Amino acid sequence: MNVLITGGCGFIGSHLAERLVARGDKVMVLDDLSTGAMENIEHLVGRPGFDFRIGSALDVPLVTELVDRADHTIHLAAAVGVRLIVERPVHTIETNVRATEVVLGAAAKKQKQVLVASTSEVYGKSSQIPFREDQDLQLGPTSHSRWAYACSKALDEWLALAYSSEKGVPVVITRFFNTVGPRQTGRYGMVLPNFAQQALRGEPITVFGTGLQSRCFGHVFDAVEAILRLIATPAALGGVFNVGATTEVSMLDLAAMVRDAAGSKSEIRLVPYSEAYPPGFEDMMRRVPDVSRLEAVTGFRPRTPLDQIVRDVVADQRMRLEGTTAGTAS
Ligand code: UDP
Repeated sequence: MNVLITGGCGFIGSHLAERLVARGDKVMVLDDLSTGAMENIEHLVGRPGFDFRIGSALDVPLVTELVDRADHTIHLAAAVGVRLIVERPVHTIETNVRATEVVLGAAAKKQKQVLVASTSEVYGKSSQIPFREDQDLQLGPTSHSRWAYACSKALDEWLALAYSSEKGVPVVITRFFNTVGPRQTGRYGMVLPNFAQQALRGEPITVFGTGLQSRCFGHVFDAVEAILRLIATPAALGGVFNVGATTEVSMLDLAAMVRDAAGSKSEIRLVPYSEAYPPGFEDMMRRVPDVSRLEAVTGFRPRTPLDQIVRDVVADQRMRLEGTTAGTAS
């Protein structure tokens, strides 16, 4: 199989590229290195079947050429991370919407299959737990830039579904829930790598708000498995799928787990949202996926236990801090 991964130097994309290369598929990575990093794919360069281009997913001729050559395009290139979204809303909206348009437009020329990566952010503030793919979305006001991300990704989904129904493009949409694991950088505000770094450095672990807000953390290896199963399953075409784990943990409990796993004596410190984020930020209290659709269609559901996920992230951050990491970004 010939697979194009946009955003393939990023966290999920680089793990996906690694799996595909390992099983003998041909992989082309396209990345502009804005949030992805060469270090993430360095170990794949020179491996049979692996190729990469540094370039933008907004570059129509380039994307058209690469999509044409691929059997499947996995469109992961996007502006990600809550901090980036609040700080650079123009970049977020433009990157997320335009790049998806370009990829789908290229795919429509020869009816090439595309997986569009979306996010659990699209559920917004919904309190209808667990989140099911067909439930109403509940976004906040346009004055709060966080919702620009959710809205841009929801538009990506509509575009993909429109290309599917109107132009016959085979599409699959995945909504990733708090995906974590080795290689994820804490630079864009993601909680687990941040906690791990703080614990390992003996710094206070910063829990925002009350710390009672909860999330479900899925291992990136499970996310990759879900992608591989979905692109190989004809019944998945035209569908939207939650991809995530279902074990819920509060940020306070997570901080304690990370501290234990790191063998750290760090203080766990509550930080008010007003100090943690720029104005225009709203947090969600709970976010839990219903993954029954993914399981029904592919026979797979993410199962990596939370304690193992925490151990993996702590081990990865420890390697980085000790400067011994090969093949990963900081
Ligand atoms: N969070 C925290 N400390 C940090 C970073 C994040 O307590 O250093 C909280 C954040 O406010 C949110 C949760 O952890 O309630 C998850 O944040 P993240 O940005 O990782 O993901 P998302 O909000 O998109 O679920």
